[in-house]
Amino acid sequence: MYTREHTSVVHIGKVAVGGGNPVAVQSMTNTDTRDVDATVEQILRLEARGCEIVRASVYDEECAHAFARIKERIHIPLVADIHFSDKLAIAAVENGADKLRLNPGNIGGEDKVRKVADAARAHGVPIRVGVNAGSLEAAMQAAHGHTAQAMVNSAMGEIAILEKQGFDNIVVSLKASNVPLCLEAYRLMAQHCAYPLHIGITEAGGGDNALIKSAVGAGALLLDGLGDTLRVSLTGAPEPEVDAAWSILRASGVRRRGVEIISCPTCGRTRINVAALAAQVEQATCHITKPLKVAVMGCVVNGPGEAKEADVGIAGGDGRGVLIKGGEVVRTMAEEELLPALLAEIDTLL
Ligand code: SF4
Repeated sequence: MYTREHTSVVHIGKVAVGGGNPVAVQSMTNTDTRDVDATVEQILRLEARGCEIVRASVYDEECAHAFARIKERIHIPLVADIHFSDKLAIAAVENGADKLRLNPGNIGGEDKVRKVADAARAHGVPIRVGVNAGSLEAAMQAAHGHTAQAMVNSAMGEIAILEKQGFDNIVVSLKASNVPLCLEAYRLMAQHCAYPLHIGITEAGGGDNALIKSAVGAGALLLDGLGDTLRVSLTGAPEPEVDAAWSILRASGVRRRGVEIISCPTCGRTRINVAALAAQVEQATCHITKPLKVAVMGCVVNGPGEAKEADVGIAGGDGRGVLIKGGEVVRTMAEEELLPALLAEIDTLL
């Protein structure tokens, strides 16, 4: 199996993916790409949350030309999402797209694919080919059913079209909203090809269920050692996708960014408002990008032990509490002093 250490390295603008490079966090704008101001503002918000690659739809010439103006004002690679049109793909590349997302099978024949591949090659731009279980070709479904094998065969077909043009600067995705099907497809693909994998559960929906679905799917793949770029697809504005992607990467032990709060579930021993304290700590530290683990525990009996893995933390008592560092109690104080003391300690760690 080609795990992420063994995939080929692809450069998307300044971001290298594959070959053991850090799993890159990706998202997609939902503004009208022709509205340059709105698109730039959204991308800057995504950047601030840790988005490393962003995709935007290119559905007409105006979108392709907007790419050049958008690129001047953002700091992360911009990917052009193209359907059916070689002309738009080439225009996007000429206007600074750092990657193309398209399926060569939809571009309209070998001549057009050759032109797109030549333009991408000339600009050092990779192409992501992707299969979506929801839109598998009828012939493939007839031969293999709605299966992981059908998805992999379909992706291999798209790859072969590009390889025929001598183009191998490729990233692959195999999206499905059905988590077991999606996992099976990626695992099968990784046995056959060393191209970097863009992972995620597509059309996951919104709310907690979408987050859980994405975490189960992407988390399982990441723990298998698969996945070179990650997008969490959530219905609505894209900004929460980035937060979710980082949470999944962190929980999978793949990458860390920002403050991870470890708070106890509370029990009969709890004498302080752990939930409120944890929320206040989260609120006060959400701007921090340095990886830190901060514990908020309900009691001094088990708290320090349970918080051992944290860089710093607090544990409550009855009207009093303690500041913990490296699993050791370093100071006892009144309950109302806990939060400021913890935040001051976090400051010293930054
Ligand atoms: S840290 Fe203390 S209060 Fe929190 S769950 Fe554990 S034993 Fe209960």
